[in-house]
Amino acid sequence: MSSKHPQNPSEPCQHVTIADSSIGHVSICPECSVLHLSLNHVSVRFTPEAFRALSGMVGDAQARLDHVAQSNAAAAAAAAAAVIDAARHGPKLH
Ligand SMILES: [Zn+2]
Repeated sequence: MSSKHPQNPSEPCQHVTIADSSIGHVSICPECSVLHLSLNHVSVRFTPEAFRALSGMVGDAQARLDHVAQSNAAAAAAAAAAVIDAARHGPKLH
C-alpha cells in the first residue's frame, strides 16, 4: 500500500517495517514519521502520538485480560485447595 506523505503528497510514503507478527506488521515512513499498522487487508495510519495512545490502550486491555485470567486461575486454585482441605479435615468415615 503506498499512501502519500501528508506534508509532501507528490511522493509516496516509504514503509520501513519496525515490528511484525503472525497477524500483521507495523511500518514507519522515515520521511514523515507516519506509522502504518497493517493487519491482513487493513492498513491504518497513525501519527506517532496517536500510535502511542493506541499502544497504551491495547496494553491496558491486555493487562486487564491478564488480570482476569490470573483471577480465574487463583479462584480455581483456591477452589481446589478448599476441596483438598475438606477432604483432609472432613469427617472420617471410619
Ligand atoms: Zn511519508
